[in-house]
Amino acid sequence: MHAQIHPQPGILEIALYQGGSSKIAGRDDVVKLSSNENPFGAGDLARMAYARAGHDLHRYPSTDHAGLREALGAHFGLEPARIICGAGSDEIISFLCQAYAGPGDEVLYSEHGFLMYRISALAAGATPVTAPERARTTDVDALLAAATPRTKLVFIANPNNPTGTMIPTEEIMRLAEELPPQALLVLDGAYAEYAEGYDGGAALVDARENIVMTRTFSKLFGLGGLRVGWGYGPGHVIDVLNRVRGPFNLSNVQLDVAEAALGDAAHISRSLSENARLRDWLAEKLNAIGVATDRSHANFVLARFRDAAQAEACNAALLADGLIVRHVASYGLPEALRITVGDESACRRVAYVIGTFMEQQG
Ligand SMILES: *Cc1c(COP(=O)(O)O)cnc(C)c1O
Repeated sequence: MHAQIHPQPGILEIALYQGGSSKIAGRDDVVKLSSNENPFGAGDLARMAYARAGHDLHRYPSTDHAGLREALGAHFGLEPARIICGAGSDEIISFLCQAYAGPGDEVLYSEHGFLMYRISALAAGATPVTAPERARTTDVDALLAAATPRTKLVFIANPNNPTGTMIPTEEIMRLAEELPPQALLVLDGAYAEYAEGYDGGAALVDARENIVMTRTFSKLFGLGGLRVGWGYGPGHVIDVLNRVRGPFNLSNVQLDVAEAALGDAAHISRSLSENARLRDWLAEKLNAIGVATDRSHANFVLARFRDAAQAEACNAALLADGLIVRHVASYGLPEALRITVGDESACRRVAYVIGTFMEQQG
């Protein structure tokens, strides 16, 4: 730290976000299952749009993202005027904290919540506050008990990362109804598409003035490297977020490729059906060899071991076989490994290595 030149309070408390690693020294057959990426990559329509976008690199992009917002509105049945697009949903989370929380304010989220909530709250000078979960599941009563007159934002991911669990829409409604009047509820729907019959909370957003939904192209749509996310909220919130947003926060490459991905029905349906099939297969295999999992509604499973030491030893066994998963100690789950659902061969490799590991544990 410099003697006189200091950042705003809170900034130096931020621990840098660690992305899922992708390399193991000396191996070229590595499978990365640590960042919940789509194992099939981006779809063909997105790849073609990416190639076409190269012709317009000298042009400034649209400042209002009208094309992508119209496409999102049509695809999800939402009002385009109440959609905002950002560089990943991370940027929407950051806009929310910047706009609604500052020094003296509290940003509330659950115990095993996404690390970006804490990072964005601290970056805005606000105080991060956590509420306990019940059996690795969002606990509405605990969140309500932790809310105070200083609570400005409440984040819940549904389904949650890294647990994969979710709570019913009625529970979210109860939370929104009973929160103090100055608090805005943010429903992080990064994995909403994977949860069958779930709209990510869009209907709740339409029904109330204190709910915002965030979504992303990084998971189901296979575009984590492109950085496109979006939010849907009441008019008064979208108006505020647009004032914070830089006019050119998304490039024309990002806008065009995301829009193309939205129209790739074949890629979407293959990604969804393979994920559901292999996720349930992997969870069953793990349970059969004595590794507990909660029912996951996302594109990963959380494998729970006896203790932190066993989780670490299993992680080492997976790494030795070229499989990179995520040890989620930083999420308050030191006994667990979060495993992204890969393609069939990756899932079989994971099940085999963990099976062998558990046999040796006796
Ligand atoms: C992956 C993820 C996101 C998405 O982040 P992007 O910035 O859109 O890539 C948001 N929330 C949660 C809980 C996630 O796991």
